[in-house]
Amino acid sequence: MELDEFRSALDAWLDAHAAELAPPFEGTGTLDEQMAQLAKVKGAAYDAGWTRWGWPERVGGLGGSPLLRGYLGEALTLRGLVDPGGYSMVEVLAPTMIDYARPELAAEMVPRLLRGEELWCQGFSEPGTGSNLAALACRAVRDGDAWRVTGQKVWTSFAQYAQRCVLLTRTGPPESAHRGITAMFVDMATPGITVRPLGTMHGGAEFCEVFFDDVSVPLDRTLGEEGQGWSVAMDLLPFERSTALWHRTAFLNRRLEQLLIDASSDSLSAAEIGDVFVQLFALRARSRGTQHRMAAGERLGPETSIDKILLATTEQALFDLVGAALAEDVALGDDTAAEQWRAQYLYSRAATIYGGSAEIQRNIVARRLLDLGAEA
Ligand SMILES: Cc1cc2nc3c(=O)[nH]c(=O)nc-3n(C[C@H](O)[C@H](O)[C@H](O)COP(=O)(O)OP(=O)(O)OC[C@H]3O[C@@H](n4cnc5c(N)ncnc54)[C@H](O)[C@@H]3O)c2cc1C
Repeated sequence: MELDEFRSALDAWLDAHAAELAPPFEGTGTLDEQMAQLAKVKGAAYDAGWTRWGWPERVGGLGGSPLLRGYLGEALTLRGLVDPGGYSMVEVLAPTMIDYARPELAAEMVPRLLRGEELWCQGFSEPGTGSNLAALACRAVRDGDAWRVTGQKVWTSFAQYAQRCVLLTRTGPPESAHRGITAMFVDMATPGITVRPLGTMHGGAEFCEVFFDDVSVPLDRTLGEEGQGWSVAMDLLPFERSTALWHRTAFLNRRLEQLLIDASSDSLSAAEIGDVFVQLFALRARSRGTQHRMAAGERLGPETSIDKILLATTEQALFDLVGAALAEDVALGDDTAAEQWRAQYLYSRAATIYGGSAEIQRNIVARRLLDLGAEA
């Protein structure tokens, strides 16, 4: 199906099913409510075929351009049917499964994720390892036809809801750095895994600590080859900065429109609104280019760090404007709209951290795109 045809048919379907797809709560809802809403919308969109477009047939998709997936997430976000954070995990994790899992495993698992029957999480960061991912220490040791995994992950988004985890482990000696990392696909119900949600300042316990105590993972759950985990990670990270980011851009557009409704006209200057609008426009233009490069079959890489820098800068600029224009509501208001603005304002502070910090993205641009030399 072509994009224009997909767009108009999807819009008509969303219009026809608006009432049943709408969230049963006002504002952002609790995290439990958001997750139930996500499963409901993904299930309905999968049954109607929408979620299958843009994915390969070998994993239950209907083929077609990834631009179709971009539009689906955008349409669902613009209508306030899903929160882009949870929704877009599929864009981050499914491509990795398709590229690196055994074909039978990908064919079995990816449809469950697309259908909203399952949620997966990404176990990369550790207490001592965020930016310097190559230093990760969560250990996996071969034991017959299984790995035995012991260690800890942290900041693992939605781990308390996840049935599976794309996990990075150290299988080589500690000094092997990026060469001694192996990726695997782990069932979260396996004995020995403990998940502890972490409270956040914006309210929802979105991420967790995850402990692995001698957890058995079958060898055929290895993603790629033993020692190939760094390539898996490097191929996955650009996906955090492509379609997922396009969906987040739609969310920012929606919130700018809402701000113009909620704020009094004397609390916002045309220049301030114009500045944020221009940033948002530039971000959207940049991300659109990335969607099209992906659709043309290009391999995404370090250039997606530019998209992430623009996203973080724009998200914080927008919510700085929210903070200034709705100052009292954001700080003290207790109605649903104020709580929603407050949660989103606070969450925007994380935009320069999640998916790789702003400083690290700038290092990547300096070294890998501008060839400005190694770190001193
Ligand atoms: C909302 C949210 C969701 C997340 N979800 C997940 C998830 O699902 N899975 C997952 O694995 N992780 C997740 N993370 C973790 C995220 O990837 C890390 O927080 C991030 O990579 C930074 O790592 P760190 O927290 O260890 O900070 P550190 O690496 O300790 O960095 C601390 C500060 O030092 C700066 N810094 C570090 N090294 C350098 C350098 N070489 N040059 C210049 N500055 C430097 C950083 O920019 C940062 O400002 C999430 C984080 C957030 C905020």
